Amino acid sequence: MTDENRQSPAETVSHDGREWRCFFCDEVFTDPKAAGNHFGCDHPGNEPLCQLAQVDGGIARVIADLSEELQRYRSEDNESFREFYRLGADHVVALRNEEQKGYDRGLADGRKEVREDCAKIADAMADDQQATNEKYPDHARAYPSWRSAIQHYRSVADRIRNPRAATEQLTKSQRPEGS
Ligand SMILES: [Zn+2]
Repeated sequence: MTDENRQSPAETVSHDGREWRCFFCDEVFTDPKAAGNHFGCDHPGNEPLCQLAQVDGGIARVIADLSEELQRYRSEDNESFREFYRLGADHVVALRNEEQKGYDRGLADGRKEVREDCAKIADAMADDQQATNEKYPDHARAYPSWRSAIQHYRSVADRIRNPRAATEQLTKSQRPEGS
C-alpha cells in the first residue's frame, strides 16, 4: 500500500459520514468491511494488514506462511479422515464376515437338522417292520424280505447320518470287479 493509494481525510467523507483511520498507517476507510479487514478483525492474529506487511518478506511471506499452515491442517484432516474411513471400512468387512459365518453356520445346522429328520423316518420304518415281524412271526419267517427290510432301513438311516462314509462305501461297491 503506497501513500498515493491512501485517502486523505478530505476525500473520505462517506454518504453516512462514517470513516475509520488506521492507528499505524493513517489510512482512512469509509467501507466498514475494508476497514475491518485492514485492522485485523477478519483474520487470525488480529494484526493490521499494514503491520503484517512490515514483517520480513512482506505480505507475500505472510500469505505463503498462512497457505502452508492451511495446507498442513488440510493434510492432517485428510489423514484423520482416511483413518476414520479405513476403520469404518474394516468394521463393515468384519460385520459382513460375522454375518456370513452366522449364515453358513445356520445353513450347516439346517442341513444337519433335515438329515436327522430323514434318518428318523428311516428308523421309524425299520421299527415299523420290526413290530410287524414280531406281530406276524410266521409271515416274517416265510418272507425273507420282511427280515432284510429292517436291516435295509437301519442302513439307510446310517447312510443319511453319515453321508460321506456312505458315499465312499457306494463308490467302492460300484467299482467294477477286478479293477
Ligand atoms: Zn494500517
